[in-house]
Amino acid sequence: MAENDPTAPVVHDAYSDDYIRDILRGVKTIAMVGASDNWNRPSYFAMKYLQQKGYRVYPVNPKVAAAGGEILGEKAYADLDSLPETVDMVDVFRNSEVAGAVTDAAIGHGTRVVWMQLGVRNDEAAARAEAAGIKVVMNRCPKIEFSRLFGELGWHGFNSRVISSKRRIPGKSDAVGGDSDVGDGFVAKGFETLAVHAGSAPDPTTGARATPIYQTTAYVFDDVDHAASLFNLQTFGNIYSRLSNPTVAVLEERIAALEGGHGTTCTASGHSAQMLALFALMGPGDRFVASKRLYGGSITQFGRTFQKFDWHCDFVDVEELEIVRQAALHPKCKAIFAESLANPGGVITDIQALARVADEAGVPLIIDNTMATPYLCRPLEHGADIVVHSTTKFLSGHGNAMGGAVVDGGKFAWDKNDKFPSLSKPEPAYHGLTFFETFGDLAYTIYGHAVGLRDLGPTMAPMNAYLTITGIETLPLRMERHVANAARVAEWLAANPKVAWVSYAGLPGNKYHGLAQRYLPKGAGSVFTFGIKGGYEAGVRAVERCRLLSHLANIGDTRSLILHPASTTHRQLTEEQRTAAGAGDDVIRLSIGLENADDIIADLERALA
Ligand SMILES: *Cc1c(COP(=O)(O)O)cnc(C)c1O
Repeated sequence: MAENDPTAPVVHDAYSDDYIRDILRGVKTIAMVGASDNWNRPSYFAMKYLQQKGYRVYPVNPKVAAAGGEILGEKAYADLDSLPETVDMVDVFRNSEVAGAVTDAAIGHGTRVVWMQLGVRNDEAAARAEAAGIKVVMNRCPKIEFSRLFGELGWHGFNSRVISSKRRIPGKSDAVGGDSDVGDGFVAKGFETLAVHAGSAPDPTTGARATPIYQTTAYVFDDVDHAASLFNLQTFGNIYSRLSNPTVAVLEERIAALEGGHGTTCTASGHSAQMLALFALMGPGDRFVASKRLYGGSITQFGRTFQKFDWHCDFVDVEELEIVRQAALHPKCKAIFAESLANPGGVITDIQALARVADEAGVPLIIDNTMATPYLCRPLEHGADIVVHSTTKFLSGHGNAMGGAVVDGGKFAWDKNDKFPSLSKPEPAYHGLTFFETFGDLAYTIYGHAVGLRDLGPTMAPMNAYLTITGIETLPLRMERHVANAARVAEWLAANPKVAWVSYAGLPGNKYHGLAQRYLPKGAGSVFTFGIKGGYEAGVRAVERCRLLSHLANIGDTRSLILHPASTTHRQLTEEQRTAAGAGDDVIRLSIGLENADDIIADLERALA
């Protein structure tokens, strides 16, 4: 495997975990060039963290050195030449241009590793260092990589991409100078493997193999300094379960892994996930563009309730790309929002086309992937920037736990324009810390916990996280059956004389069949609508006559569900909005469950008779 071949050239856009891990394990002494004595600067954070992990860090800062000062208890040095020993690694906290001269000094110094911080990249300097036999890492933070690879990011739900069936013994460091292979993990490629394992290693204390339910509100501090580091976001760890909880963190990492994202913030419901996803982006007076074909509750949340925050939604037909573009180019527009597979209409969104518009407008594309699940569609692979879920539906899968998730793809540069000050400008509530500068591709997810959940409070309960983790273990198997049953029922309905139309993208001839083959090759989901001849009255009667299908407002249950949207979920909308949302008077919505397909068809036959 190329990944483990030590002679293969290093690809600086995609370091293997082994490459980074070997560096962090092999290094003991670090010179931090550009270390700051200002405690809210990223370099101060990183230095403090690396010291805690057992590294000897020498600060290189000419100004502090000239004054004979210290940083974090270490004497400051003017340059690499004045260091008392040859260090294993030079960590560059200067800009990309200056990094060239620092790298040349590091080559002269005789170091083994040159590490350039988040946002710092100088390919010519890297080539010179590599020619001198020095390993190079660019545009990464050692603090974040250490946490990710050595199992410390628990509280944030980052996608560590490490799977391990081995217990990590508390206090036994397998990092600095260590030889334990616990941190090595297993690099899983298959979706099914990730669905069972991602995020959940055996419990470090008890060895419990299933994820324990950490039914606790708060977590002890080791000492006052530890508490201060946690509150300042200098150390990753748990403080209070409104912000983070170890059970919820396992679910967060699992969903991030399944979507191919960098991190996830879980929330109490799908609706709070939507609020949190936008909260990091929006301010009073801002706008966002949303598809007018959305889950009914989302239309109400976006169109009415968000106005109380002075957030404004422009609903558009996302198939009219020029209209989307015009709305997105509004200077106050901060995001484009659509559902991959729209609820209830069975409409499939051309994610790649929307992603191009979002890119042009300099705003992220947010996709609600609730109905498709990552098993059928992974929007981040098609150019979406953020994915939201109601985990209440197929992810938990058994109709027994509310929840939501916000997944960050980690690719959006939040400082590429002035639109996203929450992420790109100093945050007063954290003493002027700048999230994107400090946390890079994890900034959006850390903001979701450290500001979003902390201040708005829609936290997922650990019990619900546990039920959802268990549910996800069988997601691939369940989705296969959901899709197979749905296809059979849709075909049967399409041949039934009492049925005017069936809107299931899995059926050939459906308007969205082509998009379904492109975006949902494993099946077009199990939620779809059909039109009953006889309109509103006939719809109400059919729903009431079912004995196996349950009449209720939910989707994604093991049980088959039936609903007449016009008289229930969509009744708050005007008739015009209902029709636009695909919830006209004759529309019946089905969410096909895991029962025997013949039984489902038999019940529908009775109801339509
Ligand atoms: C159910 C649903 C929501 C809202 O989620 P809750 O968990 O009920 O808050 C949002 N979007 C879609 C597509 C849904 O199906």
